[in-house]
Amino acid sequence: MIDIQTTLSSIEREDAHTSGAYPKRPVSIVRGSGSTVWDSDGNSYLDATSGQGVALLGHCHPAVVIAISEQAQTLITCPEIFYNDQRSALYEQLHSVLPNDLDRYFLCNSGAEAIEGALKVARLLTNRTGIVATMRGFHGRTLGALSLTWNKEYREAFEAWQPTVNHFPYNNLERAAEAINEDTAAVVVEAVQGEGGVHPADVEYLQGLRQLCDERGALLIVDEIQTGFGRTGRWFAFEHAGIVPDVVALGKGIAGGVPMGAVAWRGSLGTLPKGSHGSTFGGNPLASAAAIAAITNLREDNLPARSAELGTWLLNELNSRDLPGVREIRGLGLMIGIDLRVRVTPILQALQERGILALPAGKTVLRLLPPLTITQAELLTIVDSIEAILQEQNA
Ligand SMILES: *Cc1c(COP(=O)(O)O)cnc(C)c1O
Repeated sequence: MIDIQTTLSSIEREDAHTSGAYPKRPVSIVRGSGSTVWDSDGNSYLDATSGQGVALLGHCHPAVVIAISEQAQTLITCPEIFYNDQRSALYEQLHSVLPNDLDRYFLCNSGAEAIEGALKVARLLTNRTGIVATMRGFHGRTLGALSLTWNKEYREAFEAWQPTVNHFPYNNLERAAEAINEDTAAVVVEAVQGEGGVHPADVEYLQGLRQLCDERGALLIVDEIQTGFGRTGRWFAFEHAGIVPDVVALGKGIAGGVPMGAVAWRGSLGTLPKGSHGSTFGGNPLASAAAIAAITNLREDNLPARSAELGTWLLNELNSRDLPGVREIRGLGLMIGIDLRVRVTPILQALQERGILALPAGKTVLRLLPPLTITQAELLTIVDSIEAILQEQNA
């Protein structure tokens, strides 16, 4: 008898069982190394998605691979009701890269879970209930995080199950001043809006939010899930504004590709009441070991600074090209958005055919989130291809 499994492609086999929730591209990625990934037919792609902003160090960075392999032979699971050597070392690592005041951490397994944790921290440590977030903001898709997320397409079906969130326009301090009051537990904001179209915050905006929160006793929660760990050219994007948030949500690249999220907050606010939050897998030794290796290598290879330099160079390079149909190019570090006058999907498809993977950010923005280890030559290939495709499409 023929084994049916082996006669069907992994795409067909996945389609038979996938949730349906994902807009999927018909390519099966099976291997990665540095900035390159390979599909099941052996085609290679330059990965300007970093697997959705995760692979800051590139794919399968040897230090992360070794850390995971060694830890897998030592201890894989250990809930936080016990102490653990890897977790304690990770806490110290986090403290070494975050502002000194942010010295309390809750470890979890994804970005959305970090946002949920941040909301609980705000509720429990302020005893207030009001939540303020921004239009175009994206904070994840679990119910609490979804309530902060702006896009109605994600949110509408679940409105009855959501806490009330007051959304105000991004980069608009006047409207922020109207939205934040004595009942506000927290203001939740991205330092660069990612999914919402790659919009960096104005320095004065973040500074103004900091001041408003101080005056009105609200906590400033900065979502650094996409921008954290060097993506924007600093360890954290709020550093560009010289502010320190009360709470920071972390995820994506924190553990070199292994699932992990984290909430960091100002210890002077206090700690969480026993039993008020928890996660079986949160801070497990495998993810902690991966995160220690990832953060160590980001530091040793000076990757936040590399991201700043390469990002500036890339923005200049893109701006120097003849790119028809481009409305605006925005970005910070290696987080770049090319805002088009047309829908981005066909452009992404054409890039993929040329062996380059990139992301959308909304319907018209082409988003580049390459590994921070990508070479200038690889970036040039990407820029050349974008130029060629836009010229073809507008010819
Ligand atoms: C990706 C992302 C999230 C959600 O993280 P998940 O790990 O997908 O749950 C939240 N906020 C921002 C800014 C993100 O980019």
